[in-house]
Amino acid sequence: MTDKKERTLVVIKPDGIQRSLIGEIVKRYERAGLKLVGIKMFVPESGFVEKHYLLDPGWKESVGKKTLEAYKDKGLEHPAGDDPIKAADTIIEALKKYLSSGPVIAMVWEGINSVGVVRKITGGTEPLTSDVGTIRGDYTIDSYKLADVDGRSVRNLVHASGSPEEAKNEIKLWFSEKELLDYRLVQEAILYDVNLDGILE
Ligand code: ATP
Ligand code: MG
Repeated sequence: MTDKKERTLVVIKPDGIQRSLIGEIVKRYERAGLKLVGIKMFVPESGFVEKHYLLDPGWKESVGKKTLEAYKDKGLEHPAGDDPIKAADTIIEALKKYLSSGPVIAMVWEGINSVGVVRKITGGTEPLTSDVGTIRGDYTIDSYKLADVDGRSVRNLVHASGSPEEAKNEIKLWFSEKELLDYRLVQEAILYDVNLDGILE
């Protein structure tokens, strides 16, 4: 069964706020038909950022592997050699600095397949190679290589949960129960109602 109330976490990172892209970013998720059920703005502490990325025990290995593969595809040698965990350790240090550098906006979006829909709208991790039409592909230009040379994170405007399980854990970390609202949007009748009753007078 498909869950019409699937929820996912999106964080507009400090570069998204500083680039004045809040409205553009929110608009893209909103117009897809997703429902905003929680939102807040604050400056995360670096310990909180570390906690967020280490929620998933497999994240270090996967981010390290992804990075090493991107290097290999471009015929480049990574400073961590072929050790994904070593590559990930450098990334996490840079992420702590990046995400605690200024205000972020955390949001929870709800709707059918929201995790996948949000990832599709957001685009791939590296803006240089993210598709045109996605947030990361349209609004910024960073690359793994440039970030590494400068010893910083890839600046890609937003974070979006990678799977429904990741979303559940992340939402629990970022929001309390009472900060998330259960309500109905008028458009849900058009998106999900079986009979489309109530349009004609
Ligand atoms: P996010 O989790 O932020 O939505 P993602 O799932 O596309 O992004 P992850 O693999 O989870 O990507 O990496 C988390 C974040 O770490 C990226 O969004 C990016 O800011 C940063 N990052 C990832 N790989 C690198 C790298 N090789 N060098 C620098 N920063 C990186
Ligand atoms: Mg991720």
